[in-house]
Amino acid sequence: MQTVYTFGGSADHSDPRQKDKTVVGGKGANLAEMASIGLPVPPGFTLTTEECVRYLAEGGAFPDSLHTAVAAALRHIEATVGKRFGDKDNPLLVSVRSGARVSMPGMMDTVLNLGLNDETVEGLARVSGDPRFAWDSYRRFIQMYGDVVLGIDHGLFEEALEIAKEDKGLYADTEMDSEDWQALVAQYKGIVASELGRDFPQDVDEQLWGAIRAVFDSWDSDRAKVYRRLNDIPGDWGTAVNVQAMVFGNMGETSATGVAFTRDPATGERAYYGEYLINAQGEDVVAGIRTPQYLTRAARKLAGAKPLSMEEAMPDAYGELARVFDLLERHYRDMQDIEFTVERGHLWMLQTRSGKRTARAALRMAVDMVGEGLISQEEAILRVDPMALDQLLHPTLDPDAPREVLTTGLPASPGAASGKIVLDADTAELWSGRGEKVILVRVETSPEDIHGMHAATGILTARGGMTSHAAVVARGMGRPCVSGASAVSIDLKARTLRIGSLEMREGDTITLDGAKGQVMRGEVKTIEPELAGDFGTLMEWADVHRRMGVRTNAETPADCRMARSFGAEGIGLCRTEHMFFDASRISAVREMILADSEAGRRAALAKLLPEQRADFREIFEVMVGLPCTIRLLDPPLHEFLPHGDAEFEELANVTGLGVDHLKRRAGELHEFNPMLGHRGCRLGITYPEIYEMQARAIFEAACDVAEASGEAPVPEVMIPLVATRRELELLRALVDRTAQDVFSERGRTVEYLVGTMIELPRAALMAGEIAEEARFFSFGTNDLTQTTLGVSRDDSARFLGPYVDKGIFARDPFVSLDIEGVGQLVEMAAERGRATRADIKLGICGEHGGDPASIAFCEKVGLDYVSASPYRVPIARLAAAQASLKGG
Ligand code: ADP
Ligand code: MG
Ligand code: MG
Repeated sequence: MQTVYTFGGSADHSDPRQKDKTVVGGKGANLAEMASIGLPVPPGFTLTTEECVRYLAEGGAFPDSLHTAVAAALRHIEATVGKRFGDKDNPLLVSVRSGARVSMPGMMDTVLNLGLNDETVEGLARVSGDPRFAWDSYRRFIQMYGDVVLGIDHGLFEEALEIAKEDKGLYADTEMDSEDWQALVAQYKGIVASELGRDFPQDVDEQLWGAIRAVFDSWDSDRAKVYRRLNDIPGDWGTAVNVQAMVFGNMGETSATGVAFTRDPATGERAYYGEYLINAQGEDVVAGIRTPQYLTRAARKLAGAKPLSMEEAMPDAYGELARVFDLLERHYRDMQDIEFTVERGHLWMLQTRSGKRTARAALRMAVDMVGEGLISQEEAILRVDPMALDQLLHPTLDPDAPREVLTTGLPASPGAASGKIVLDADTAELWSGRGEKVILVRVETSPEDIHGMHAATGILTARGGMTSHAAVVARGMGRPCVSGASAVSIDLKARTLRIGSLEMREGDTITLDGAKGQVMRGEVKTIEPELAGDFGTLMEWADVHRRMGVRTNAETPADCRMARSFGAEGIGLCRTEHMFFDASRISAVREMILADSEAGRRAALAKLLPEQRADFREIFEVMVGLPCTIRLLDPPLHEFLPHGDAEFEELANVTGLGVDHLKRRAGELHEFNPMLGHRGCRLGITYPEIYEMQARAIFEAACDVAEASGEAPVPEVMIPLVATRRELELLRALVDRTAQDVFSERGRTVEYLVGTMIELPRAALMAGEIAEEARFFSFGTNDLTQTTLGVSRDDSARFLGPYVDKGIFARDPFVSLDIEGVGQLVEMAAERGRATRADIKLGICGEHGGDPASIAFCEKVGLDYVSASPYRVPIARLAAAQASLKGG
């Protein structure tokens, strides 16, 4: 298998492996792709991810064959650019860049200008005719290589630079002259020697292999592991290494470097978007050392900024760049995130990839690109990550609420967030672990802050542009972010924050508006989201392409209304016990539970009947004409019992029974393992009057609504926790009898179904028989997961984390269905149920009904619908459409 691939110049790009991200990583594949369509890409080569995997497995050894392949590939670069690696007269310099299948902050930073040493720097000064540039490049190289490969604290280099500038009374790096840089190089070399106990490596081959080794090793760094865990990236992919001829943006005023997006990644607007810096190298833009300038004149005007945009300052290079933007978008048929450098007026492309975007931008681009004829509706549906919609399904700041704006920074990632100020990533994680909402406030963020950014609801930085680390990561995570808020200053020792003249402390509350870049004091009022505009359009397209229905899990009229506005086509799970907990009813419920006799229970139930009927009526009014699955009482009765003496006394007053008597009854109801105890249909079997009351409430409410509106809902009465056919047979008879009673009292009938939840392994096994009694099955995958795995969801927090880390479970099985295991039971039950009753309705009502991976499985098994919590309904609609399009 080929281990090294060359790109650019006369390289042959025809091997499909070279365009395959799994082999050469995303960066490598796209560099080869750009070179092969004739774009100006500096020549280079890529060591495959397979070599990384092998290297790590074999304990860090490089075979001779790899040395040979790299040497040959270096000759390709040398021949293309006409320079030689290590040549003291005309040296070739290269960058060494990591690049996994997906872009991964957390891995090794790029090393630029590799190949410089005390001799080649002189040669570079001579051939370029620009000693300042040569020494600037050398000091950058020592710092990057020292930090990234040799592991020397970069603060030491930065400090030396700051002191050098101060000594000369200079403000910007660009004011340093050749001698200044040369002096700094001497100091840098001193730092390396004293930190390392040996000199900075002068041998260029040693430099190169050191950097390659560092890239491979960085795959297993802690930073990379954290990032992989947060993003579900497998540990066995490995990273590729890209070695590429340097082009120089730091060769004076006709040179520059920049990053750009072909459309606005925050809003999706079709406008070039980006930043550039004159006389700089790549890292400068991202690191926030200097404030970058706008790419286009329009963006500069809009921001009211003075420094010229690239469009104005370098019209020729800009024109060329714009041409490349359009070409790349047509080629990849997607928005691209691009890195480029201009060397003495000449444009070079250094990277392209599909750009990260906010959910809002993803929707707009998908819809726009269909309009532009760039992609089909189907592709548009497949482009948008269903989970990303979550960002848009949360409350946003009420435009009419008063805001006290403390300062305004850059609108780096949209969305609103309120929370307590925290000043470092560990604190963010700690406090959010305690259930607090926090806003991480930093001067700027770096990959070490990822866990804190993840824990925070919003991110605020004092420095950095729209493409700074904070901005890029926040957009990817869907966190609102305001970057470059320069009025913010942080005192880490005092744990305080100053915004202008206002001093705040860690723990004080602020609100961010990421779309406006505003930082506000306190918490600002929010409003509910709605599915308008592009969101609504994409949802309509999704509905056309999906086979499965989407219902909601809801038990209050407000939730039902919300779910309907999000497109729910009925209720998949209405949990009636929630209605029992209501303060006005709980004492009647308790009276029923603690009664000694059936007569006592019936008396209490009679009080509950009108309440429960009113609940159902309200829900049916919202869901008129739609199916509503209502689950009869499920939890063990002692969940409703009083806690503490005060509640017992209150109950004694209401019931006229003694406190001691009540406590004794409560004690009798205690269970050792309530999850497997007296609950679900077992309640209906032992206390049929409870289910009878609930069934009556359902049918009376349905008749009421049918009378009032002329259109009836379709109740689907669901019996929980069934394990045997006989349980369902008995309870179905009870429900049918009650229905008949109500219908003859009312002189009308409504359509209804009786069915069951499949949530015990035995029920799945016996589904064929159970289907004789059931018109529908709803997979209760929460309990089915608990009972199949023998894991209690509520007690699993202590070990589930390590189980996922060690790869025992690929993901939390309560979030994403264990398709291998629990999935088999679902599949089998669906088959057996259908074999008995061809038209049996099949759905899922566990938490998994809102998880895209689980939804794809439901499509494959051929379920009729999924049911999700109201806020997840749009996610489920899109995921169901994607599942249909992917062919289940
Ligand atoms: P990252 O993945 O962190 O963006 P990159 O490898 O893309 O790291 O490089 C970091 C910066 O260095 C980018 O701005 C990139 O454009 C620049 N760069 C990388 N290789 C070269 C090169 N051969 N010549 C000039 N600039 C380069
Ligand atoms: Mg890059
Ligand atoms: Mg259950």
